[in-house]
Amino acid sequence: MAKLIDGKAIAKSIYDNINLRVRELRSKGVIPKLAVVLVGDDPASRLYVNSKEKRARENGIETEEYHLDGSVAEAQVTELIKKLNVDDTVHGILVQLPLPKHMDKQRVLSCISPDKDVDGLHAVNAGALMTGSRGFIPCTPKGILHLVKSTGIDVSGKRCTVVGRSSLVGKPAALLMLNSDATVTVCHSRTADLGSITKEADILICAAGRPRLITADMVKPGAVVIDVGQNKIDGKWCGDVDFEPVEKIAGYITPVPGGVGPMTIAMLMQNTVEAAENTIVG
Ligand code: NAP
Repeated sequence: MAKLIDGKAIAKSIYDNINLRVRELRSKGVIPKLAVVLVGDDPASRLYVNSKEKRARENGIETEEYHLDGSVAEAQVTELIKKLNVDDTVHGILVQLPLPKHMDKQRVLSCISPDKDVDGLHAVNAGALMTGSRGFIPCTPKGILHLVKSTGIDVSGKRCTVVGRSSLVGKPAALLMLNSDATVTVCHSRTADLGSITKEADILICAAGRPRLITADMVKPGAVVIDVGQNKIDGKWCGDVDFEPVEKIAGYITPVPGGVGPMTIAMLMQNTVEAAENTIVG
């Protein structure tokens, strides 16, 4: 039976550290602040923004929300971002995705100053991850790496399979694992015989957004299984992994909810504190 990787408990220990760092910043007169840009009225985005803002407040990080109508021109969003870029009281800028269809996501994200890009989605930060240099790492993949490391397993030399190749999760997760010396395979919707590849993995990261895509016969006994998927079926959350049967053969497994989700927000807070610290350190 797999050991459960408790994302909530691990996130809690990260918040303890964040609290210390925020206190230190405040003692130096720096109040970390996250600006949140929300465009439109997508209910899921509203919920995500609310929980990020709540977490920030609980941890001494100020938030400033800019809620724009879903019909505004892209230029209005980019003008706002440019103002926030030069506002010294703002340390992190988060543009909640998805943006309305008439906007070019990458063009909007590229307006965020890389120094305030706490979601790590600007090309400069993506490039830093690619070259293994310092930069902001996207929150979900950064949380995934923490969860893998929490098992105590040495990632170096392990076979890791990532299912999903999005810029938000799959690709950066693969790069992080590669930078930790794993041997990495990336799968996607065109991958032939997915199960034969996932079954080879010592570490299996599933970020496809397909409920119960990964069945027990696709998992190597003893593997570390990280389930990123957040799918709602009949009002209940489920992941990309068929949890109960896979739990019987994996070595470690994350639950949904309570695995990757809490870590994503914790990493956002960590990146925001780091951005604030950078203004005095560097
Ligand atoms: P995405 O942009 O839709 O990407 C999904 C990826 O999965 C694509 O690369 C796609 O392949 C691949 N894929 C889809 N069906 C597949 C299949 N049958 N076999 C193999 N690969 C398949 O999604 P995302 O933003 O990366 O998010 C993935 C999941 O993670 C979603 O459920 C999302 O809600 C969840 N998520 C959770 C958190 C969290 O904090 N817990 C954060 C972010 C995302 P192609 O490239 O070929 O289309």
